[in-house]
Amino acid sequence: MASLSPTPTSSYRGRLAPSPTGYLHVGHARTFLTAWQRARDAGGALVMRMEDLDPDRSRAAYADAAIEDLRWMGIRWQEGPDKGGPFAPYVQSKRRAIYLAAWRKLLRHGHLFPCRCSRKDLESALGAPHERVTAAMQGSLGKLDLMDDDPIYPGTCRRLQGNIPQLPGPTASEIESPDGINWRFRVNDGEVVEFDDLNLGPQRFVAGEDFGDFVVWRRDGVPSYQLACVADDAAMGITEVVRGADLLKSTARQILLNRALGYQNPRWYHCRLVVDHNGRRLAKRHDSLSLRAMRQRGLTPMNIMAADLPEEA
Ligand SMILES: [Zn+2]
Repeated sequence: MASLSPTPTSSYRGRLAPSPTGYLHVGHARTFLTAWQRARDAGGALVMRMEDLDPDRSRAAYADAAIEDLRWMGIRWQEGPDKGGPFAPYVQSKRRAIYLAAWRKLLRHGHLFPCRCSRKDLESALGAPHERVTAAMQGSLGKLDLMDDDPIYPGTCRRLQGNIPQLPGPTASEIESPDGINWRFRVNDGEVVEFDDLNLGPQRFVAGEDFGDFVVWRRDGVPSYQLACVADDAAMGITEVVRGADLLKSTARQILLNRALGYQNPRWYHCRLVVDHNGRRLAKRHDSLSLRAMRQRGLTPMNIMAADLPEEA
């Protein structure tokens, strides 16, 4: 395979952003290969960023495995945790100051409200199945599993501002840390968010219908995927985001965050998802489809890329 040019000849900057919460499977491999090919064809740079913010599910061993598996696939990058680069560190758990600055900016501009709803409050307000709400609240299923299916927030705490008297405690300018409470981004109900996907074509979502006020900082002290992603893409000068189609709705949320933070939107290329023979999206339960397992069975990267795997419509 032709390789990335060591010195980029264009302003294209793409990224690979694995979550080290399990072994990469064949679906990830296809998306990451697409990201690598597009960066290479554009004569651009490819950044590896380890998205290890989930304190309960991230493991250093999975991060090492992701790097090893991607290298085995023949995928290369110019900047990353293993290589360093001008925007280091390339590991999200070491970039808290960047996310805090973004949270402060959103708070100062009135985009956020503190949400004191317990899991139980949301369950009863939504009448949603217990497990679904629980998982979404905790973010416990991770970005690849549930992010786009976050139940619509019922708006219970929406009228509260970080700096008005209804909220007991300090005013916005005095709030030093977001930890200990969920902070949500207030959307404008009915606002249409549209973008042209480079692979899937025109996309259209409606705030308040397709997604509601979403969490940007979790009570357990970590920024949400949405906030960390836009802050990092902006800080690292990413011009094109290649990722799975399970994140289309996240892109709509991220467009709103980019506008609120004054960041430029990158372009997006969402890859169709590989599904199993029952039409279900691949997940960690599909151990036999992990790159690791396939390699152990003697398959080559070429076998994996050439395999005729079903994709989600
Ligand atoms: Zn609430």
